[in-house]
Amino acid sequence: MQQKNIFQKAIMMLLFFITTINLMAQQERQCGTKPPLSRPLAIPDNYQRNMDITGMRMLRLYVIITKPTYQAGTPAQDEHEILAHLEWMRQHYAPYGICFILQGMEVLVSDELNVVDPDSNDDFLALQAIANQRPTCMTIFVHGAIEGNVAGTAWGIPSTFVSLEGSYTWSGFPVLASHEIGHALGLLHTFETYYGKEAVNRTGSCVNCDVAGDLLCDTPADKENVGSQYFNSNCEYLLTTADSCGNTYLMAPANIMSYHLIICPTPFHLTAGQGARMNYTIDNTQALLNRMLTINAYTTTLNQNLNSGYYEYVYRNNITINAPSYNVGGSARVHMSSGEIDLKPGTTLSTAGGNGIVVVRANALCQ
Ligand SMILES: [Zn+2]
Repeated sequence: MQQKNIFQKAIMMLLFFITTINLMAQQERQCGTKPPLSRPLAIPDNYQRNMDITGMRMLRLYVIITKPTYQAGTPAQDEHEILAHLEWMRQHYAPYGICFILQGMEVLVSDELNVVDPDSNDDFLALQAIANQRPTCMTIFVHGAIEGNVAGTAWGIPSTFVSLEGSYTWSGFPVLASHEIGHALGLLHTFETYYGKEAVNRTGSCVNCDVAGDLLCDTPADKENVGSQYFNSNCEYLLTTADSCGNTYLMAPANIMSYHLIICPTPFHLTAGQGARMNYTIDNTQALLNRMLTINAYTTTLNQNLNSGYYEYVYRNNITINAPSYNVGGSARVHMSSGEIDLKPGTTLSTAGGNGIVVVRANALCQ
């Protein structure tokens, strides 16, 4: 058994390495997210995020995996791989008081939306219409492909929905969902130049880190599309490319919002400044506030017979079904998601004899 685990780990590492090399070789494999036309709000010096009940802000997620009618109808990614991919996002966001709960996951059969173009307004509108069907969830679309050598895109900064290419949303690839959700919550690329080129200096002359680049001073001045061959095994930048003040760029190769997808000794991460910007963006964006889950618990003692219809029960901490007779069956589609779900005697969940679905999911994205 031990031998098998080691073998599996070796295979995973090899796959991760191959994928990483592949991305490095294809530097054009990028992110389709555009910077907002107007500069994001500056974060006030005395900003403190609004705390919710438990201190963690929980955002509801809904995942839609596209599947074409051709190619034997294979979904863009396996559900278990997507869940493993989202576990990376939990790790990246938890230090900044943001976590998630999966409200549901479904497969959407659509040749049109199995491949999307980040520059297409028609695709934007089509995805927005679907995402808006759940105005309390952030929607992650997982597609068969994204055009233009793009691995993922947020459909705005901020935004309530993002698109990811299925082949990058797996357990061995830690950054794609974290990166695009970062945009959705207000983050820019560390190498952004839309508001001006960021200078290296943080003190003295030339300092512009709060008004140029990614508008944050705790991410080093970075450059786009620097090949991995220009970093050593410690992820230190080997060239002496300098900013206009003559200072050599430091780079942020392990930052979630950069492009440097290489194996660094430092795990992929976000900074405190990026955490503050995400929280500040949530505080000032009603559409994102609407996606926060603040209700802690649900308990029912009432008898029920659910034989049809669609029901989503999503609560932060626990769901308790404690009725003498609580039956789900027939064509009823029921999703329950919470930190803990307690089904007492008297509860029967069945899909026998119908085309219903029952999903009971203990939330693993907020720990
Ligand atoms: Zn991006």
